[in-house]
Amino acid sequence: SIVVTGATGHLGRHVVEQLLEKVPAEQITAVVRDRAKAADFADRGVRLAVADYNAPETFEGLFAVGDKVLLISGNEFDKGRVRQHTVVIDAAKAAGVALLAYTSAPGSLTAALADDHRATEEVLLASGLPYSLLRNAWYHENYTENLAPVLEHGAVVQAAGDGRVSSASRADYAAAAVAVLTGEGHENTTYELGGDEAWGFAEYAAELSRQTGREIVYSPVTTDALVGILTGAGLPAPLAAVLAGVDASIEKGELAVSSGDLSRLIGRPTTPLAEAVTVALKG
Ligand code: NDP
Repeated sequence: SIVVTGATGHLGRHVVEQLLEKVPAEQITAVVRDRAKAADFADRGVRLAVADYNAPETFEGLFAVGDKVLLISGNEFDKGRVRQHTVVIDAAKAAGVALLAYTSAPGSLTAALADDHRATEEVLLASGLPYSLLRNAWYHENYTENLAPVLEHGAVVQAAGDGRVSSASRADYAAAAVAVLTGEGHENTTYELGGDEAWGFAEYAAELSRQTGREIVYSPVTTDALVGILTGAGLPAPLAAVLAGVDASIEKGELAVSSGDLSRLIGRPTTPLAEAVTVALKG
């Protein structure tokens, strides 16, 4: 089987949808925490397995020898994601899966956000399992799904200076995962995945202006100021610090990926940022 964890998340849903276009539904297992959230998959013949990264016993016997597994990194920053991911890697190792692909972060990223990914990669490599590191850069949707304050204030407020980001759509990264899970020869590979065109926040503001017909400017601030703005808007301080750290990395060029791996894996150009803006504005 092809087994996908985090299948009811944003990325996981794209992966399962795209797998359904390529392989029979009964060859796909969606690992979910809440069966009800995956009822649509079950209706279409996808097998469901209920498991939680925090409960190792739920992964016992879940994988079978020869499975190809996509471990989608978790989002519970306060629960020890490395320990969580290790639960999945250990179970995959015990079962003797054929491939474990992991959604990681760019090798160039030094922001605190990358620490869990680097540590998970080390656990995976030490396991001896055939692996594929899908080092995903940023999603367009990180920005385009958070347009309300930008439109309200007519300003894109970031602490990234003139830094550039190679973002791509979640659907693009999902397509890369599907290529690795359904293709051959991806054992022990590391892919640096990012959009074909890197862009800066001034360009992003200009694109928003063009598509909304309103004046939207880029307002660069310091990381300290950004933390203040984000906590003022109600974000927990640790999360605000993580996001500001990402902007500092963007300014240093750590989220600009020029490998071409993503478009090569998916066999087409990546989705332009402008297209994600259009989708978001249609709401
Ligand atoms: P989502 O937050 O939409 O999905 C996270 C998935 O992880 C969900 O399916 C969730 O399950 C699952 N999950 C979380 N905790 C557990 C757990 N304890 N046990 C089992 N499953 C769990 O994120 P995306 O799909 O958008 O992105 C996938 C991952 O990529 C993120 O979790 C994060 O690690 C990373 N990421 C990458 C970004 C980028 O720009 N490259 C941006 C943001 C995140 P459930 O559906 O039950 O909630």
